[in-house]
Amino acid sequence: MNQWLRQLPPVHEFQKSEQFKRLVKNFQIDPSQVTKQIQQEIAQLRSMLLKGCYSPKELSKNESLFDYIWTQVEQKVTAIKQDHLIPVINATGTVLHTNLGRARLSEDAIQHMVEVARNYSNLEYKISQGERGSRHEVIEQQLINVTGAEAAMVVNNNAAAVFLTLRALAKHKQVIVSRGQLVEIGGSFRISSIMEESDAELVEVGTTNKTHLYDYQQAITDDTSMILKVHTSNFKTIGFTETVASEELVTLKQDKEQLIVYEDLGSGSLYDFHQQGVGDEPVVRDLIAAGVDLVSFSGDKLLGGPQAGIIVGKKKYIDQLKKHQLARVLRVDKLTLAGLEKTLQAYLSNQETIKQIPTVRDILKTKQEILQQVNSFVNSFERSTVPFQLEVIEQQSQIGGGTMPAVELPTYVVALSHHYDSAEIVATKLRTNQPAVISRVKDNRVLLDFRTIDQQEMKEVAEAFKRI
Ligand SMILES: *Cc1c(COP(=O)(O)O)cnc(C)c1O
Repeated sequence: MNQWLRQLPPVHEFQKSEQFKRLVKNFQIDPSQVTKQIQQEIAQLRSMLLKGCYSPKELSKNESLFDYIWTQVEQKVTAIKQDHLIPVINATGTVLHTNLGRARLSEDAIQHMVEVARNYSNLEYKISQGERGSRHEVIEQQLINVTGAEAAMVVNNNAAAVFLTLRALAKHKQVIVSRGQLVEIGGSFRISSIMEESDAELVEVGTTNKTHLYDYQQAITDDTSMILKVHTSNFKTIGFTETVASEELVTLKQDKEQLIVYEDLGSGSLYDFHQQGVGDEPVVRDLIAAGVDLVSFSGDKLLGGPQAGIIVGKKKYIDQLKKHQLARVLRVDKLTLAGLEKTLQAYLSNQETIKQIPTVRDILKTKQEILQQVNSFVNSFERSTVPFQLEVIEQQSQIGGGTMPAVELPTYVVALSHHYDSAEIVATKLRTNQPAVISRVKDNRVLLDFRTIDQQEMKEVAEAFKRI
């Protein structure tokens, strides 16, 4: 063992080597980063040798300790220079897949973000006056136009929007919430916990399945500041249920003028999917028209924009939110505003332009359109001689992102089974392809749902299979 320890090459031996110079040149990497890796590898090997948990026999016959260490160093350095946030192809058919980054953006939004990233911008500058401006005003008018609200602001995400609203408007005051709406979204957002953090006092009313207008009415005291309605985005109660419509909640303001009716809408659709036969998600504009004081929703769910939390409603409340210290803490980046601005503009355009938002387009994609994609994929496949069996089957895609959980969008999927590899192995090979293809596995078959695969990506999926 001692003999091996004595043979461990010193760091400077690596630094002098040709390999070292070549690696630094090829990867354009800071030499001190490479030295750090060498030191770590030598230290690790030394400690393993000392513990006796490493037998030098594991070295292949011709490999010296130098070569062994260098191979490890090269791998580590390659990893340093690799991107860790990478694009993937979503073949699951789930349009808003939270693990896969939720909404992808429209080309217009992407272009606008690139432009704003590349240049200086008027983020907080009034060009005509040559004075300091506010980033809150950059897209406020657009939000007013699409929702019909008096005022609007944008924060980091909808969780932040809920927190800011409660903290700024209901701290140490009572907030009435229906028991059926004390939801948890995505394992990390719990209404009751957010409420506690914001120092608002939660007053629960009704039962899990039924809450009536009189439940709210009876709970109102002098200390009540707000009625919070939470959209039960990610589950559905069925059977004997009753919730109070937003229009009715607003009537409670007749007896108590300062009462704030706030709706955490979660997804917050600007497009009437219901009218297209998809789900029954409320549209933000309708809630504002019903007289709800404040509505908040996500930028990257049904809206199809970048991650953001959007708050719209009465100017007197929005003004208070903008002035609150937390607004600075939760403020959004200019790239978010750029992406959001273009996405909102699409909603003010004709139907065709709205469908350039990938989220809207993919949700509305018809079975027929998907079948065309499926057929062209299957045809390209059969020309090659790969060991797969293919079947086209009818299935359902989900919207995802904790949105419209009960809605199933009819689709066609390609179900593939390999002649000898299991579906799990094929799915793993697809995932480790470049670009990674994320599929579903069911009944030992790999399912590809083309709802979330665009024309460009189809070629790449076909290529991935050829490589398998
Ligand atoms: C998704 C959701 C949130 C959290 O929104 P993020 O933008 O993910 O922070 C809050 N409330 C409801 C009802 C939701 O559906």
